[in-house]
Amino acid sequence: MSLPQNTLLSGKRGLIMGITNERSIAYEIAKQAAAAGAELCLTYAHEKLAPRLEPIAKELSASLCLTCDVSDDAAIEKTMADVKAAWGNIDFIVHAIAFAHKDELRGGITNTTREGFHLAMDVSAYSFLAVTKAALPLLNDGASLITLTYLGSNKVVPNYNIMGVAKAALESTTRYLAAELGPRNIRVNALSAGPINTLAARGIGGFNEMLAHHERTAPLRRLTTQEDVAGAALYFLSPLSQGVTGEVHYIDGGANTLGPTPAL
Ligand code: NAP
Repeated sequence: MSLPQNTLLSGKRGLIMGITNERSIAYEIAKQAAAAGAELCLTYAHEKLAPRLEPIAKELSASLCLTCDVSDDAAIEKTMADVKAAWGNIDFIVHAIAFAHKDELRGGITNTTREGFHLAMDVSAYSFLAVTKAALPLLNDGASLITLTYLGSNKVVPNYNIMGVAKAALESTTRYLAAELGPRNIRVNALSAGPINTLAARGIGGFNEMLAHHERTAPLRRLTTQEDVAGAALYFLSPLSQGVTGEVHYIDGGANTLGPTPAL
Protein backbone atom coordinates (compact mmCIF):
# COMPACT_ATOMS: atom_id res chain seq x y z
CA MET A 1 0.00 0.00 0.00
CA SER A 2 1.38 3.42 -0.82
CA LEU A 3 0.25 6.32 1.30
CA PRO A 4 -1.80 9.09 -0.26
CA GLN A 5 0.23 12.14 -1.32
CA ASN A 6 0.51 14.49 1.64
CA THR A 7 2.44 17.50 2.89
CA LEU A 8 3.13 16.25 6.42
CA LEU A 9 6.86 16.92 6.16
CA SER A 10 6.97 19.75 3.71
CA GLY A 11 9.71 22.26 4.52
CA LYS A 12 11.47 19.73 6.78
CA ARG A 13 14.98 18.42 6.34
CA GLY A 14 16.23 15.17 7.77
CA LEU A 15 18.88 12.49 7.94
CA ILE A 16 18.03 8.92 7.00
CA MET A 17 20.72 6.56 8.33
CA GLY A 18 20.68 2.85 7.42
CA ILE A 19 19.65 2.22 3.82
CA THR A 20 21.42 -0.76 2.27
CA ASN A 21 18.98 -1.60 -0.49
CA GLU A 22 15.32 -1.30 -1.48
CA ARG A 23 14.34 -3.84 1.19
CA SER A 24 15.76 -1.71 4.02
CA ILE A 25 13.18 -0.32 6.42
CA ALA A 26 14.96 3.04 6.13
CA TYR A 27 14.49 2.98 2.34
CA GLU A 28 10.70 2.86 2.68
CA ILE A 29 10.75 5.54 5.39
CA ALA A 30 12.87 7.73 3.09
CA LYS A 31 10.48 7.12 0.20
CA GLN A 32 7.42 8.05 2.24
CA ALA A 33 9.18 11.04 3.83
CA ALA A 34 10.20 12.36 0.40
CA ALA A 35 6.62 11.88 -0.86
CA ALA A 36 5.45 13.90 2.15
CA GLY A 37 7.67 16.81 1.10
CA ALA A 38 10.85 16.27 3.15
CA GLU A 39 14.32 17.09 1.86
CA LEU A 40 16.63 14.18 2.65
CA CYS A 41 20.24 13.42 3.45
CA LEU A 42 21.03 9.69 3.21
CA THR A 43 24.01 8.31 5.09
CA TYR A 44 25.68 4.94 4.55
CA ALA A 45 28.46 3.05 6.29
CA HIS A 46 31.41 2.93 3.89
CA GLU A 47 32.67 4.69 0.76
CA LYS A 48 32.75 1.39 -1.12
CA LEU A 49 28.94 1.30 -0.94
CA ALA A 50 28.61 4.56 -2.89
CA PRO A 51 27.78 2.84 -6.21
CA ARG A 52 24.82 1.17 -4.48
CA LEU A 53 23.61 4.24 -2.58
CA GLU A 54 23.99 6.99 -5.13
CA PRO A 55 21.30 5.63 -7.49
CA ILE A 56 18.96 5.27 -4.49
CA ALA A 57 19.69 8.87 -3.46
CA LYS A 58 18.89 9.97 -7.00
CA GLU A 59 15.66 7.97 -7.09
CA LEU A 60 14.56 9.54 -3.77
CA SER A 61 15.70 13.03 -4.86
CA ALA A 62 17.89 13.22 -1.75
CA SER A 63 19.92 16.42 -1.86
CA LEU A 64 22.78 14.93 0.19
CA CYS A 65 24.27 11.44 0.29
CA LEU A 66 27.17 11.04 2.75
CA THR A 67 29.23 8.29 4.33
CA CYS A 68 28.90 7.85 8.08
CA ASP A 69 30.30 4.84 9.91
CA VAL A 70 28.49 5.24 13.23
CA SER A 71 31.17 3.33 15.12
CA ASP A 72 33.55 6.24 14.45
CA ASP A 73 33.01 9.54 16.31
CA ALA A 74 35.17 11.45 13.81
CA ALA A 75 33.01 10.16 10.93
CA ILE A 76 29.84 11.24 12.74
CA GLU A 77 31.31 14.71 13.43
CA LYS A 78 32.33 15.04 9.77
CA THR A 79 28.82 14.08 8.61
CA MET A 80 27.24 16.69 10.88
CA ALA A 81 29.74 19.31 9.75
CA ASP A 82 28.87 18.57 6.10
CA VAL A 83 25.15 18.73 6.84
CA LYS A 84 25.61 22.01 8.72
CA ALA A 85 27.54 23.49 5.81
CA ALA A 86 24.85 22.45 3.33
CA TRP A 87 21.68 23.06 5.32
CA GLY A 88 22.48 24.82 8.60
CA ASN A 89 19.98 22.80 10.61
CA ILE A 90 17.77 19.71 10.59
CA ASP A 91 14.27 18.69 11.64
CA PHE A 92 14.53 14.90 11.96
CA ILE A 93 16.82 11.89 12.14
CA VAL A 94 15.92 8.30 11.32
CA HIS A 95 18.43 5.89 12.91
CA ALA A 96 17.90 2.42 11.37
CA ILE A 97 21.23 0.78 12.15
CA ALA A 98 22.23 -2.42 13.92
CA PHE A 99 25.03 -4.94 13.75
CA ALA A 100 26.16 -8.09 15.55
CA HIS A 101 28.34 -11.01 14.56
CA LYS A 102 26.22 -13.51 12.64
CA ASP A 103 27.52 -16.48 14.64
CA GLU A 104 26.33 -14.79 17.85
CA LEU A 105 22.76 -14.52 16.48
CA ARG A 106 22.18 -18.26 16.74
CA GLY A 107 22.23 -20.78 19.55
CA GLY A 108 22.17 -19.46 23.11
CA ILE A 109 23.33 -16.11 24.49
CA THR A 110 26.35 -17.86 26.03
CA ASN A 111 27.78 -17.87 22.48
CA THR A 112 28.42 -14.14 22.96
CA THR A 113 32.03 -13.00 23.22
CA ARG A 114 33.14 -9.88 25.07
CA GLU A 115 34.19 -8.34 21.76
CA GLY A 116 30.86 -9.28 20.12
CA PHE A 117 28.95 -7.78 23.04
CA HIS A 118 30.84 -4.49 22.76
CA LEU A 119 30.44 -4.38 18.99
CA ALA A 120 26.68 -4.99 19.04
CA MET A 121 26.14 -2.46 21.84
CA ASP A 122 28.33 0.11 20.13
CA VAL A 123 26.83 -0.03 16.64
CA SER A 124 23.24 -0.86 17.61
CA ALA A 125 22.72 1.21 20.78
CA TYR A 126 25.49 3.72 21.54
CA SER A 127 25.45 5.00 17.96
CA PHE A 128 21.98 6.51 18.48
CA LEU A 129 23.34 8.51 21.41
CA ALA A 130 26.52 9.43 19.52
CA VAL A 131 24.56 10.67 16.48
CA THR A 132 22.14 12.62 18.68
CA LYS A 133 25.00 14.29 20.60
CA ALA A 134 26.73 15.35 17.42
CA ALA A 135 23.48 16.60 15.86
CA LEU A 136 22.39 18.66 18.89
CA PRO A 137 23.65 22.04 17.62
CA LEU A 138 21.79 21.46 14.34
CA LEU A 139 18.42 20.34 15.70
CA ASN A 140 15.53 22.75 15.20
CA ASP A 141 12.79 23.45 17.70
CA GLY A 142 10.26 20.63 17.20
CA ALA A 143 12.84 18.18 15.84
CA SER A 144 11.97 14.48 15.94
CA LEU A 145 14.44 11.60 16.30
CA ILE A 146 13.44 7.98 15.76
CA THR A 147 15.25 4.68 16.03
CA LEU A 148 14.26 1.13 15.12
CA THR A 149 13.93 -1.62 17.73
CA TYR A 150 12.45 -5.08 18.20
CA LEU A 151 10.44 -7.03 20.79
CA GLY A 152 13.52 -9.15 21.60
CA SER A 153 14.51 -6.24 23.89
CA ASN A 154 12.09 -7.28 26.59
CA LYS A 155 11.06 -10.84 25.68
CA VAL A 156 13.31 -13.79 24.98
CA VAL A 157 13.26 -14.47 21.24
CA PRO A 158 15.25 -17.54 20.16
CA ASN A 159 18.59 -16.63 18.51
CA TYR A 160 18.16 -12.86 18.97
CA ASN A 161 20.57 -13.00 21.94
CA ILE A 162 22.97 -10.04 22.16
CA MET A 163 20.81 -8.01 19.78
CA GLY A 164 17.99 -8.21 22.34
CA VAL A 165 20.35 -6.84 24.97
CA ALA A 166 21.45 -4.04 22.61
CA LYS A 167 17.82 -3.18 21.77
CA ALA A 168 17.01 -2.97 25.51
CA ALA A 169 19.86 -0.47 25.86
CA LEU A 170 18.63 1.40 22.78
CA GLU A 171 15.10 1.70 24.17
CA SER A 172 16.41 2.91 27.52
CA THR A 173 18.66 5.41 25.72
CA THR A 174 15.56 6.64 23.89
CA ARG A 175 13.80 7.40 27.18
CA TYR A 176 16.82 9.18 28.69
CA LEU A 177 17.31 11.26 25.54
CA ALA A 178 13.60 12.14 25.51
CA ALA A 179 13.85 13.36 29.12
CA GLU A 180 16.96 15.45 28.43
CA LEU A 181 15.86 16.96 25.13
CA GLY A 182 12.16 17.45 25.88
CA PRO A 183 12.72 20.93 27.39
CA ARG A 184 14.21 21.94 24.00
CA ASN A 185 11.05 20.59 22.30
CA ILE A 186 13.04 17.79 20.68
CA ARG A 187 11.26 14.42 20.69
CA VAL A 188 12.86 10.97 20.73
CA ASN A 189 10.96 7.75 20.05
CA ALA A 190 11.64 4.12 19.13
CA LEU A 191 9.60 2.13 16.60
CA SER A 192 9.45 -1.59 17.34
CA ALA A 193 8.84 -3.41 14.06
CA GLY A 194 7.71 -6.99 13.59
CA PRO A 195 10.13 -9.27 11.70
CA ILE A 196 10.72 -8.12 8.11
CA ASN A 197 12.86 -9.88 5.52
CA THR A 198 15.85 -7.52 5.17
CA LEU A 199 19.59 -8.09 4.87
CA ALA A 200 20.22 -7.51 8.58
CA ALA A 201 17.31 -9.74 9.63
CA ARG A 202 18.48 -12.61 7.44
CA GLY A 203 21.57 -12.81 9.64
CA ILE A 204 19.44 -14.01 12.58
CA GLY A 205 19.39 -17.80 12.99
CA GLY A 206 15.98 -19.34 12.19
CA PHE A 207 14.68 -16.07 10.73
CA ASN A 208 12.31 -17.87 8.33
CA GLU A 209 10.72 -19.67 11.27
CA MET A 210 10.38 -16.29 13.03
CA LEU A 211 8.49 -14.95 10.00
CA ALA A 212 6.23 -18.01 9.79
CA HIS A 213 5.51 -17.90 13.52
CA HIS A 214 4.63 -14.21 13.31
CA GLU A 215 2.32 -14.67 10.36
CA ARG A 216 0.57 -17.56 12.08
CA THR A 217 0.09 -15.95 15.50
CA ALA A 218 0.11 -12.12 15.33
CA PRO A 219 -3.39 -10.72 15.82
CA LEU A 220 -3.40 -9.26 12.28
CA ARG A 221 -2.34 -12.72 10.91
CA ARG A 222 0.10 -11.25 8.40
CA LEU A 223 3.70 -10.14 8.20
CA THR A 224 4.72 -6.60 9.11
CA THR A 225 5.84 -4.67 6.03
CA GLN A 226 8.28 -1.85 5.45
CA GLU A 227 5.23 0.25 4.47
CA ASP A 228 3.62 -0.42 7.86
CA VAL A 229 6.72 0.95 9.59
CA ALA A 230 7.07 3.91 7.23
CA GLY A 231 3.46 4.95 7.86
CA ALA A 232 4.09 5.07 11.60
CA ALA A 233 7.42 6.82 11.03
CA LEU A 234 5.67 9.65 9.17
CA TYR A 235 3.44 10.19 12.19
CA PHE A 236 6.46 10.28 14.54
CA LEU A 237 8.47 12.60 12.29
CA SER A 238 5.61 15.02 11.72
CA PRO A 239 3.85 17.49 14.02
CA LEU A 240 0.94 15.00 14.24
CA SER A 241 2.89 13.42 17.12
CA GLN A 242 4.01 16.74 18.65
CA GLY A 243 2.99 15.63 22.17
CA VAL A 244 4.63 12.19 22.02
CA THR A 245 8.15 11.42 23.24
CA GLY A 246 10.07 8.66 25.02
CA GLU A 247 7.79 5.98 23.54
CA VAL A 248 8.52 2.49 22.27
CA HIS A 249 5.79 2.14 19.67
CA TYR A 250 4.99 -1.33 18.30
CA ILE A 251 4.27 -1.85 14.62
CA ASP A 252 4.00 -5.62 14.66
CA GLY A 253 0.38 -6.49 13.96
CA GLY A 254 -0.20 -6.81 17.71
CA ALA A 255 2.39 -9.57 18.25
CA ASN A 256 3.71 -7.82 21.37
CA THR A 257 0.32 -8.21 23.07
CA LEU A 258 0.45 -12.02 23.03
CA GLY A 259 1.08 -14.06 26.15
CA PRO A 260 3.77 -16.73 26.53
CA THR A 261 4.50 -18.46 23.24
CA PRO A 262 5.96 -21.89 22.68
CA ALA A 263 9.58 -22.07 21.52
CA LEU A 264 9.90 -21.71 17.75
P1 NAP B 1 19.20 -3.38 6.73
O1 NAP B 1 18.54 -2.97 5.49
O2 NAP B 1 20.27 -4.42 6.65
O3 NAP B 1 19.72 -2.09 7.50
C1 NAP B 1 20.70 -2.13 8.54
C2 NAP B 1 21.62 -0.99 8.29
O4 NAP B 1 22.60 -0.83 9.33
C3 NAP B 1 22.41 -1.15 6.99
O5 NAP B 1 22.20 -0.03 6.16
C4 NAP B 1 23.85 -1.23 7.46
O6 NAP B 1 24.77 -0.74 6.52
C5 NAP B 1 23.76 -0.33 8.67
N1 NAP B 1 24.97 -0.40 9.48
C6 NAP B 1 25.53 -1.47 10.10
N2 NAP B 1 26.68 -1.11 10.70
C7 NAP B 1 26.85 0.23 10.45
C8 NAP B 1 27.84 1.18 10.81
N3 NAP B 1 28.92 0.86 11.56
N4 NAP B 1 27.69 2.46 10.38
C9 NAP B 1 26.62 2.83 9.64
N5 NAP B 1 25.66 1.97 9.27
C10 NAP B 1 25.77 0.68 9.67
O7 NAP B 1 18.12 -4.01 7.76
P2 NAP B 1 16.80 -3.39 8.44
O8 NAP B 1 16.04 -4.58 8.90
O9 NAP B 1 16.16 -2.38 7.58
O10 NAP B 1 17.42 -2.72 9.76
C11 NAP B 1 17.18 -1.37 10.13
C12 NAP B 1 16.88 -1.31 11.63
O11 NAP B 1 15.62 -1.93 11.88
C13 NAP B 1 17.90 -2.04 12.51
O12 NAP B 1 18.11 -1.30 13.69
C14 NAP B 1 17.16 -3.33 12.85
O13 NAP B 1 17.61 -3.93 14.06
C15 NAP B 1 15.76 -2.79 12.99
N6 NAP B 1 14.69 -3.78 12.97
C16 NAP B 1 14.60 -4.67 11.95
C17 NAP B 1 13.60 -5.62 11.96
C18 NAP B 1 13.52 -6.65 10.86
O14 NAP B 1 12.92 -7.72 11.10
N7 NAP B 1 14.06 -6.39 9.68
C19 NAP B 1 12.66 -5.67 13.01
C20 NAP B 1 12.78 -4.72 14.03
C21 NAP B 1 13.79 -3.78 14.02
P3 NAP B 1 25.56 -1.75 5.51
O15 NAP B 1 24.71 -2.99 5.33
O16 NAP B 1 25.70 -0.97 4.28
O17 NAP B 1 26.82 -2.05 6.23
